Parts: sequence; structure tokens; C-alpha cells
Amino acid sequence: MPPKLTATWRERLTDHAQRAVADYSRWRADLRDDPTLVWRTRPIIFAITGIVLIGIAFGIQALANHWVAAASGSRVFEKPTPTATVYVACANPNCLDAAVLQLPMNFRAWPLPCATCGGASVHRAELCKSCRTWYAASQGPCPHCTAKAAPPKTLTPRKPSKPGDSEDGWGPLPDSAP
Ligand SMILES: [Zn+2]
Ligand SMILES: [Zn+2]
Repeated sequence: MPPKLTATWRERLTDHAQRAVADYSRWRADLRDDPTLVWRTRPIIFAITGIVLIGIAFGIQALANHWVAAASGSRVFEKPTPTATVYVACANPNCLDAAVLQLPMNFRAWPLPCATCGGASVHRAELCKSCRTWYAASQGPCPHCTAKAAPPKTLTPRKPSKPGDSEDGWGPLPDSAP
């Protein structure tokens, strides 16, 4: 009669434990002879594999978090600074050059240096409704139209408001005409 069939659960458990202890003792003895046996012992391989897998999982999660943070960070970083297309014009009457610039929305450092004449005379420009030219808005009316309307100022002698020497030349009218 095989002992396993008649054995009670207690006996079987004891037998099992005894065999486990015996196996463990034998394993310890073998390990002393050959330390590399530890890498060939299944429970240890399972345990190490488990630890490595958990480590990899944590690593992947950390990496993913890092990537997400980096991605969102870079998105913030790459967000373009708000710029505006600004028409500008040189206020120098001898230049009056106009240009289109991309300036930061909050740009306040007026006036800008003029690329044409070199003067610090570039201001925001306005489109003249008459001649469709951009001109420096701070400079009053459109200088192009003003220049066309009024001929260039020359040093003309001032016309006297009234004829000179009126008292001497004219005098009282004669009472009777000849
Ligand atoms: Zn200029
Ligand atoms: Zn004009």
C-alpha cells in the first residue's frame, strides 16, 4: 500500500516540509560547491525576473512621465511669442521710407532706426487714404500729399500787407477833379 494514500493531510504536509527542508539543505550544500547554482535555481530566477520586470515597469513609467513633461514643456517653449504685423514709416522728410515688420505685440521701443536713412525716426505708419502710401502716423498729415499739395517752400520775399508810404503818396483826394 503506498503511504501517500493513507497519509493524513498532516502527515503529507510534514512529509512535504521535510522534503522541502531536505531540498533546501541539499541546495545550500550544492551552492557551496558551485556558487553559480544560484543563477540556475528556478525560484531565484523567478524572483529576479520579477524584480527586473517591476524595475522595467517603473522605469518605463518614469520615462513616460519624463517624456510627457518634456513634450508639454517643449510645447510651452515652442509657443511662438505673439507678434504683430506692423506697418512702419520713416518720419524723416527726406526719407519717408515705409516697411512691414513683425514686432512683438507689446513692442514699445519707438522710434526704430531707419534702415534707409539711418535716423532713429521710424514710427508706426498709417495708410494715407488719398495717395495710398504708408506714412509715419505721429507726423500729422500725410507728408506725400502735403508735399504734392504745397510746392516746396522757397524763400520768397514777404508781400507787404499794404502799400508802403500810403500817407505820403496818397494824401487827401482833391476836392474837384480836373
Ligand atoms: Zn529714413
Ligand atoms: Zn498721402
